[in-house]
Amino acid sequence: MAARRKLIAGNWKMNGLKAEGLQLASDLAGRLQGAGAVPFDMLVCPPFPLLFPVGEAIKGSPLALGGQDCAPKQKGAHTGDTSPAMLKDAGCAYAIVGHSERRQDHGETDAIVAAKAAAAHEEGLVAIVCVGETWAEREAGKAQEVVGRQVAGSLPAGATAANTVVAYEPVWAIGTGKVATPQDVKDMHAFIRKELQARLSDADSVRILYGGSVKPDNAVELLATDNVDGALVGGASLKADDFWAIGTSCR
Ligand code: PEP
Repeated sequence: MAARRKLIAGNWKMNGLKAEGLQLASDLAGRLQGAGAVPFDMLVCPPFPLLFPVGEAIKGSPLALGGQDCAPKQKGAHTGDTSPAMLKDAGCAYAIVGHSERRQDHGETDAIVAAKAAAAHEEGLVAIVCVGETWAEREAGKAQEVVGRQVAGSLPAGATAANTVVAYEPVWAIGTGKVATPQDVKDMHAFIRKELQARLSDADSVRILYGGSVKPDNAVELLATDNVDGALVGGASLKADDFWAIGTSCR
């Protein structure tokens, strides 16, 4: 199996003002620098207004920066949107696309998510493409059907292991404290790997993250699960100690 370096990604969502964001990012960058060789990449995705100051503060450190979303276009009359080119200008290497909160709150379809990922690729950004079923869909026995459809529809042509990460985030586990069982995670990640193998020539090298109430006390088990190549972390990424503990749970 291809060696996949783990990615620990923090999605700050709509949290934190400049001072807190700078402190959190600088703290993590300092820990990473002090730790030397670690078996994971670490990424923070602050709200858009904090990208430039945080990008400046962590420049030259191993801590990577990402946007929580991006527009499917690079510029123009799109009020309120932020383009991949703007993310790159701020120092981003990654853009999350298709987070369930974007799909739910902003009606983003798979086609929109794929267009956003394609635009991110155009600027050389790695797109973190989020997929995941609702509780009702899981209860109805449709979790794999839903996730399979999202993977098929949300990955743009030209997706490779170098420019794309998939994040499996069951909607019912996000911010709820409910975590999918290691067996459910193992099954779904194996399913996603198979779906990728049907589409991408380098599918075995694509990183598949798990997200949904990842905390220091469940990270070791989740991160040791087959085909779990890292974590997309919301709440616990807002505390340097917790986020660092999740990172150092990587073996
Ligand atoms: C997320 O926002 O992607 C997420 C997984 O949130 P939390 O870790 O808080 O469940």
